[in-house]
Amino acid sequence: MPSDTDFPGDAGTMSQYPATPRTRVKQLPKRGVYDRATVHAILDEALLCHIGFVHDNQPYVIPTIHARVGITLYMLGSAASRMLKALSRGVSACVTVTLLDGLVLSRSTFHHSMNYRSVVILGTLETVDDPQEKLNALNVILEHIVPGRSTEARGPNELELKATTVVRMQLSEVSAKIRTSPPIDDEADYALPVWAGVLPLSFQPGLPMTDPRLSPDVPVPSYVDHYDRSTLQERS
Ligand SMILES: Cc1cc2nc3c(=O)[nH]c(=O)nc-3n(C[C@H](O)[C@H](O)[C@H](O)COP(=O)(O)OP(=O)(O)OC[C@H]3O[C@@H](n4cnc5c(N)ncnc54)[C@H](O)[C@@H]3O)c2cc1C
Repeated sequence: MPSDTDFPGDAGTMSQYPATPRTRVKQLPKRGVYDRATVHAILDEALLCHIGFVHDNQPYVIPTIHARVGITLYMLGSAASRMLKALSRGVSACVTVTLLDGLVLSRSTFHHSMNYRSVVILGTLETVDDPQEKLNALNVILEHIVPGRSTEARGPNELELKATTVVRMQLSEVSAKIRTSPPIDDEADYALPVWAGVLPLSFQPGLPMTDPRLSPDVPVPSYVDHYDRSTLQERS
C-alpha cells in the first residue's frame, strides 16, 4: 500500500477547512462542519462521489469512485478526462459525497427529512499523468473500496493503466453538512396521533457470493467476510 508520502502535495496541518464565501453553509448554518477529521471521515466512509462540471455549456454530474490521500481526492474519471483533454487545462468542478443515516418522519408532510452526512468540495480537476502517481492512486482507490484487497489482486499492466483515467482535486474549499436530529415539527402538530421519529438506515453488505469459476481451495478472505465501512480509520 502506498503511504501519503508517495503522493505529491502537502497533507497540511490545519484542523479546520476555512469557510469561504462559497462554502459557508447559509441554510441552517449550525449543520455546517469544517473540521478536517469529520470531513475526511465522511469522504473515507463513502463508497462513491459525484463530480459536477460544465462542458460546452452543458452541466454534467457523473457518479464515480474516489479515494482520499491527505488533502488530495483521487477519482476514476474518464468522462471528466474527455473534457479536460478538450480544454487541456484544469477545469472547475464540484464534487459531492453523501452518507444516508436515517429517514426522519415528522407529523406533517412538510417537515419530513433525512439524517445525513454530506461533503461538498469546490476546486479544479486535473488528470493524473505521472505513471507512478496514477498507479499509487489506483491502489488507494482499490483499498478505499475493499481495504486489504490491493495486497492480493494482480496490479494493472501497461495497457490497463493506459485505459484508465484518474483525476485529482485538492481539498481546500470544502464543507460538510450533518443532520442527526429527530423530526422538528410545528408546535401544534406534536398533539397529532401520528407516529414520528427516525428510521435509521445503514450500509449492510450481504453474504459473499463466490464466483462459480473460483477454485474451491480459495477461501473467502476476512476483509470480505467482515466488510464494514463504518469502522474505517481516518488515514490522515
Ligand atoms: C440526503 C439529503 C437530504 C436533504 N434534504 C433536504 C430537504 O429536504 N430540503 C432542503 O432544503 N435541503 C435538504 N438537504 C440539504 C441540501 O443539501 C442543501 O444543504 C440545502 O438544500 C441548502 O441548499 P443551499 O444551496 O440553499 O445552501 P447554502 O447554505 O446556500 O449553501 C452554501 C454552501 O454551503 C455548502 N453546502 C450546502 N449544502 C451542503 C451539503 N448538503 N453538504 C455540504 N456542504 C453543503 C456548499 O459549499 C454551498 O456552496 C438534504 C441533504 C441531503 C444530503
